[in-house]
Amino acid sequence: MKFDKVRTRFAPSPTGYMHVGNLRTALYAYLTAKAQDGTFILRIEDTDQERYVEGAVDIIYNTLRETGLNWDEGPDIGGPVGPYVQSERMGMFKDYALQLVEKGAAYYCFCDKERLEEVRTIQQASGMAPRYDGHCRNLTPEEVQEKLDAGIPYVIRQKMPQEGTVTFHDEIFGDITVNCEELDDQILIKTDGMPTYNFANVVDDHTMGITHVIRGNEYLSSAPKYNLLYEAFGWDIPVYIHCPPVMKDATHKLSKRNGDASYEDLIAKGYLKDAVLNYIALLGWSPKGDREIFTLEELVKEFDPSGISKSPAIFDNQKLRYINGEYIRALSPDEFYEKALPWMRQSIHSETADLRELSTVLQARCEVLSDIPEQVDFIDAVPDYDVQLYVSKKMKTTPESSLEALKAALPVLEAIPAENFKAPVIHDALFELIAKLGVKNGWLLWPVRVAVSGKQFTPGGGVELCAVLGKEESLSRIRAAIQKLS
Ligand code: GLU
Repeated sequence: MKFDKVRTRFAPSPTGYMHVGNLRTALYAYLTAKAQDGTFILRIEDTDQERYVEGAVDIIYNTLRETGLNWDEGPDIGGPVGPYVQSERMGMFKDYALQLVEKGAAYYCFCDKERLEEVRTIQQASGMAPRYDGHCRNLTPEEVQEKLDAGIPYVIRQKMPQEGTVTFHDEIFGDITVNCEELDDQILIKTDGMPTYNFANVVDDHTMGITHVIRGNEYLSSAPKYNLLYEAFGWDIPVYIHCPPVMKDATHKLSKRNGDASYEDLIAKGYLKDAVLNYIALLGWSPKGDREIFTLEELVKEFDPSGISKSPAIFDNQKLRYINGEYIRALSPDEFYEKALPWMRQSIHSETADLRELSTVLQARCEVLSDIPEQVDFIDAVPDYDVQLYVSKKMKTTPESSLEALKAALPVLEAIPAENFKAPVIHDALFELIAKLGVKNGWLLWPVRVAVSGKQFTPGGGVELCAVLGKEESLSRIRAAIQKLS
């Protein structure tokens, strides 16, 4: 089937959860298609039954849907070149391999396990890389027919050129040339008549009309073999875009096997899906300007694969936190409250604390929702704290000055009617006192904050925390602090 539009695919193997590298590949494939008004296809590559993990396909569907990477053709919605699940396409590959045999680009190989084993042992003993020795490359058609008639099991192998070089172009890595001598006559069709992964991948990409192949650079070394297959068939070679790996640090790749961040883990840790997607877009790709915050629609407009870097991308948690914070700030107060509530409830059981007020305070400062339980753990009760907490060089406070400050603040707060005990009223009352005493703001507010929280760092200042706690609780904490300091 001929298509005039750009067609990209995400071709995951359902072998576990989606780690950020997978999601990034999906995103870049989506963006490459959408930036050119093209078609984004989902193909499930489930032929490796040994690595198949139950439930992994659902994770792929859910993650793509949640992040808005909606596919135009795929297993569940069909399309003109289905089926879109590799295991359902098994019937067609052998015919394609036979076409190559006809063209002289592939051949039957009847070598049995024992022989291959022997060859390998000899090669290893002499320090050679193990590879097929070409024993069946030059069988005559009659010899082949004889063996087929005798029912000898066979595989079909790709007939690699034995000399010269093969060059292919990758959009990120440029021209890559390899010596043909290094290429093994890889198996295309196995003894059971099923294709190998590499062969199915190429035939599927061609028969699905894929114009741009976007995938991890672990496939870069297989690309020459893929390229030779396209050439042997006389098919158009797709644009190759191999993405650099996503690293945990300078020497370790992020990997599913090591349990490194998957999309689901990040969501469970309180990152917002749009922020994760935005951050992942920047993992190895640089937009033209300085801007870093993009919605998916904006990314479609901005994305250009030429901005993908060759060097590995390091997963930078601080940057993800920063971007997540920006997305938190952009939520409406109601949206944030709804998301923050379960996290607040993890450490707050108090019936009287004003969680709406607390939510407002948190939204201004929070970077990741999972920070919330620890940030608000003083709401139910003040932790046991050291009076040294009252010492602040910057605010010029000491335990002694704090005692004085709290004694001054207490009657002022007591005078506010309970129903008016809200941040603006508390603010005005305390600032009036500050003006009257002629002291620095911090001289009064620092002790109030410590007295009601017992913590060095809190999501808001003294005024806001008093409003969250309510009159009765705030005053009882301030009285307790006065006792503690006396
Ligand atoms: N199925 C492969 C994987 O999940 C992707 C191969 C490709 O994109 O060509 O790693």
